[in-house]
Amino acid sequence: MGAAAEQFSSRLAVCGDLGIGTVQMNNGWETVIGLEIHAQLSTESKIFCGCSTRFGDEPNSNTCPVCLGLPGALPVLNMRAVELGARAAIALGLHINERSIFARKNYFYPDLPKGYQISQYDQPFSSHGELEIMTALRDDAGHPKDWFPKKIRITRLHLEEDAGKNVHEGLPDVDRYSYIDLNRAGTPLAEIVTEPEFRSSWEAHDYVNHVRRVLRWVGASEADMEKGNLRCEANVSVRRAGDDRFGTKVELKNLNSVRFMQRAIEYEVERHIKVLESGGTLTQETRLWDERAGETRTMRSKEEAHDYRYFPEPDLSPLVLAREFIDQVRSSIPELPEVRRRRFSEQYGLSYSDASQLTADRSLADYYERAVATSGNARGLANWIRSELVRELDTAGVTASDSPIPPEELARLIKLIDEGKISGKQGKDVLVEMFKTRKGAAAVVAEQGMVQMSDAKEIDSIIDSVLDANPQQLASYRSGKEALLGFFVGQVMKASSGKANPKVVNERLREKLK
Ligand SMILES: [Zn+2]
Repeated sequence: MGAAAEQFSSRLAVCGDLGIGTVQMNNGWETVIGLEIHAQLSTESKIFCGCSTRFGDEPNSNTCPVCLGLPGALPVLNMRAVELGARAAIALGLHINERSIFARKNYFYPDLPKGYQISQYDQPFSSHGELEIMTALRDDAGHPKDWFPKKIRITRLHLEEDAGKNVHEGLPDVDRYSYIDLNRAGTPLAEIVTEPEFRSSWEAHDYVNHVRRVLRWVGASEADMEKGNLRCEANVSVRRAGDDRFGTKVELKNLNSVRFMQRAIEYEVERHIKVLESGGTLTQETRLWDERAGETRTMRSKEEAHDYRYFPEPDLSPLVLAREFIDQVRSSIPELPEVRRRRFSEQYGLSYSDASQLTADRSLADYYERAVATSGNARGLANWIRSELVRELDTAGVTASDSPIPPEELARLIKLIDEGKISGKQGKDVLVEMFKTRKGAAAVVAEQGMVQMSDAKEIDSIIDSVLDANPQQLASYRSGKEALLGFFVGQVMKASSGKANPKVVNERLREKLK
């Protein structure tokens, strides 16, 4: 990014054109962050052998000579991993290279029995990406202010195999021994590397969440950080505002959640500024985040860094992809979440936050559109899905595609409310019952004998008693405090146990208050 394009003010400020050139300042220091994401591709078998990638199986049960690294065993590329990698790359705005090379990355670690990892180096699977994400400044409590688009350059996305896992807990004599589980060895990964594009931990947060949503959306990865199938590393440095050289960077590892990543970045930025302002120098190193202590600590310095001695993998031929293959993958990619969010806003008149929430996952977005096709009340449905339905889904731990209430049936419930057959409050109870019993909206309403009170006479008598009981408010209203109308509506609704039709209540109240 050209520093000339950047302007700044003293504390936290965003300047330049919104998009490229957005800068956040911290006492005259600028934060620079680059991110590396490792995402496990959702294949059933490993990338170079037929072993299962199933999570949670008996340790070392999903292994064979290839993923154990036994001499003479030869890797065979899993084309499903290539296809999912292509889906991820295209959805993240990368260019797929028709020819790429697998390379050996040499290092020894107990969970890597071959002594090298098959990865890609100077000729990666895909490169030169440009991805537009939405980001926002946050207030002190972390609430976003205005959202704006920012373009992120993605250097590359390449394919590689995962290593095994060292186990240090839950087994006999773990104080003296480490255990190795090689079930994960050979699991396919996409490594996604950005340019140093981020200027705050919130931008990094918004990017990681964007990538997770896209990977899930196109079925490339479950992208679940808790299960460890999406991992994140951050390169962090600071520099004086206006300086176009980068400061000394540290690489942060062990960032097991987006929140940890942010905390680690913020800790490092503060540490860097403190060291530099007191005249000290920083060393380029790899540091680990310790969540319990709330700090980072040195893992290895630059001098101890591995020299990976990359060279082309002699057991695999170059990966050459036909144009038709790439085109076919491209045409199978569904409308992406950001595009869909914008369409939802335009087509259905939804706010940014409504449209974002409804496109948080694809099954929810599909659910919403099917419901709208039945009821036509796009905004009402958005509200009901966001608040009432999503709460029930979360509690039950299911996605919208497994909702016990089909979208058409939710639409029917909203229709009953729109037509004034039941009240909104009754509707909430009906929804809970529908979710529990899988019964239709009309059936639940009939069963519970719910009827909305729409009879003007009946409502009038409730209004009269409410007005009698609140002479002071009545006097204030009549002397001009018309905002009290809402208070009277609330009292009438309460007195009717939520059964009164709010529309009739409003009409009758206005009449009586004249
Ligand atoms: Zn295997």
